[in-house]
This record gives sequence, structure tokens and C-alpha cells, in this order.
Amino acid sequence: MGECGLDFARARTPDTRAHQVRVFRAQVELSRTTGLPMSIHCVKAQGPMLEVLRERPTPPSVMHAFSGSAQTACRLVEAGHYISFAANVCVENARKVVEAARAVPDDRLLLETDSPDQTPPGRRPAANEPAFIIDVARRLAELRGVDVAEIATLTRDNGRRVFGIDEPFALHEFDGEDPERSP
Ligand SMILES: [Zn+2]
Repeated sequence: MGECGLDFARARTPDTRAHQVRVFRAQVELSRTTGLPMSIHCVKAQGPMLEVLRERPTPPSVMHAFSGSAQTACRLVEAGHYISFAANVCVENARKVVEAARAVPDDRLLLETDSPDQTPPGRRPAANEPAFIIDVARRLAELRGVDVAEIATLTRDNGRRVFGIDEPFALHEFDGEDPERSP
């Protein structure tokens, strides 16, 4: 399901922010009742987002184009989620997100382009496109001190796991049960 989430760069008043939190809570409930992962967008709202996710545990979900700190990334990983990095990690002085990219464990790491947004620095002024995913993979390999093939393999496996790509597709029939206790 996605994109879901909170964007406080766009919502600047207490009313519009409270409205976004209400909508995000409803999205969380939908994720719980369907068992589907969310693709979560979060800009300048890491605290409120963590609060909602902690009060209502959801299926493992993807923090898309993550821009938070290493500490936030670790809290999200503890809550069962995956951290997906886009070309913002390729920016030389992006210290906060670079530290997050080093901190995420291998089994929770994902990468993405967010194309046509977030063109990698070396490709500007072109519009971003899926082929540029290699820039993000190379940068993560450099930051984590591993081979780019290793990043490709583990992020492919993580993507298959979180999106249930090898599972037969079946929505849970909502029966009022907590999805965590359903088979
Ligand atoms: Zn987004």
C-alpha cells in the first residue's frame, strides 16, 4: 500500500498536520486488516510517525526514500520495518542519512530511485530513471565497505521478502482479529 505517511514540509499548520496523522492512522489500520506492507513517505515528521507505528504494530513495511537519522532508522528496524535509500545518500555532505545507511542491518536494507524525482548528483540535470538505481547501489556498497554485487543480492532478497513476491497473493479476510495472531 502506498505511498502512505506524513509530510510536514507540506503540512505546516497544527490542523493540517493533525489531519495527516488521522489519515495515516487509517492507513495503518488498513495495513493491519489486509496484512499488506505499506510504502511509507515521511518528511520532517519522524517523531509523530514513530509514535503511530509504535502504538499500532503493522506488517513489516518500507520506509521509502529514507531521510532520517541512524537512531530513527534503528528504531524502525526494531519495530520490524525496512529502510529504503534513494540518491539522497549519494550527496557528499548528507551526513545524517549517510550514518543511517551505515547503521541499517543487511536484512533490512532496500534501495530505490524514487524516479522521476531525486536524480543522483552525477546525472543532473537529467530526469531520474530506474536505470540510475546503480548509483544508489554503488554508494551503499562504498559506505558499507562491501562489493556492489553483495548490495544487489541482499536488497533483491529483502525486496522479495517484504513484498511477499514468492508468496501466493491473498488478502486476509477481515475477521476482526489482530493480524499478528492470524495464521
Ligand atoms: Zn514519497
